[in-house]
Amino acid sequence: MINERMYQLGSQPNFIRKQFAYGLQRKAEIGEENVFDYSIGNPSIPAPPAVRARIEELLEEPPEQLHAYTMSPGLQSARQAVADNLRERFGIEATFNQVYLTAGATAALYITVAAITHPGDEVIVNAPYFAEYKVMIESAECTCVEVPMRESDFQLDIDALRQAINEKTAAVVINSPNNPVGCVYTQQNIEELAALLEEKEAELGHPIYLISDEPYREITYGVDVPFTANFYTDTIVCYSWAKSLSLPGERIGYVYVSDRIANAAEVSAAVAGAGRALGFICAPVMFQRVIETCIGEPTNVEAYRQNREILTSMLDELGYEYIQPDGAFYLWVKALEEDSLAFNEKAKEHELLLVPAECFGGHGWARASYCISADVIRNSRKAWAALKADYE
Ligand code: PLP
Repeated sequence: MINERMYQLGSQPNFIRKQFAYGLQRKAEIGEENVFDYSIGNPSIPAPPAVRARIEELLEEPPEQLHAYTMSPGLQSARQAVADNLRERFGIEATFNQVYLTAGATAALYITVAAITHPGDEVIVNAPYFAEYKVMIESAECTCVEVPMRESDFQLDIDALRQAINEKTAAVVINSPNNPVGCVYTQQNIEELAALLEEKEAELGHPIYLISDEPYREITYGVDVPFTANFYTDTIVCYSWAKSLSLPGERIGYVYVSDRIANAAEVSAAVAGAGRALGFICAPVMFQRVIETCIGEPTNVEAYRQNREILTSMLDELGYEYIQPDGAFYLWVKALEEDSLAFNEKAKEHELLLVPAECFGGHGWARASYCISADVIRNSRKAWAALKADYE
């Protein structure tokens, strides 16, 4: 008999993918230029030329070596490159044995949650949040506890987190720069979180891990993203090159268990064990080798900055409210009615494809992914204007 939960997950694909598929269908029906698809977070800029050069170089290697298995956590040289990069950028004494390469941030998060929880534990997420967190947490037979961010400034609500933490709390997941809001938590906010978690660890007598999901770390617009492991000891970073190097389909990322954790080697062993138990071993090898040499390649943030300008100026003119994004490539737009699902349906009538806040554990807002071509953004003006007119 098939597993009912798995059946549900498989037969009800996530809304964003549904919306994306709908967009493809509409483009085929009415022409690409008539659909304004802000649904999915697929980077619109190409991977840096160094990636292609590296792949070409690798293709010269004997195939039986190039395509061979690596050790489960990945090639030592690639893990060393990650550790060196973290040490150079953030001054943390990172070592390669604390780095576990994965098939993207998704695998990194699954492994991390499995490594540090027991069935019945609670894992806190800050809403709105990347919806797959709930699937991951529930897959580990834990409860996903949603704590809303402060709606005044979309920073972590430390008082609300304090209320939510209890003896069952195993971890808190944060994501900055944030999907879907585009906010970046300030250093002060991270320091307050660290102080709270330290206090609660002492009070409850067990670790509360901070899982820092950072696939958008490099995509920022003039603000710093504090490196959480420098502020809180029990930190585990989950990272992906999907966005920074525009490699989403190549599935490459890592788990970094902070070297500062008192029993860091044991936590790393649990990470490796979770990788084994879940089948996330030996991340795609070609891209382990790409990362080894391309890790320092700068992210082309300029294109997203330009898109952000075009979109926000347009929405300013039309009178929409939104949260000015400091990072990532998402705009969090206030829905023009309380029911953001209904707002999303109205937008669809104008071929404007957004993602309603409900998909992120929120309501009253919609997400627009602006990692699309600047022309699509410019041409979508009439759709945004018509949507606004529907409410006037
Ligand atoms: N975490 C967040 C916040 C994301 O937005 C995404 C992808 O969009 C992921 C994790 C998953 O990243 P990956 O594609 O590397 O698995």
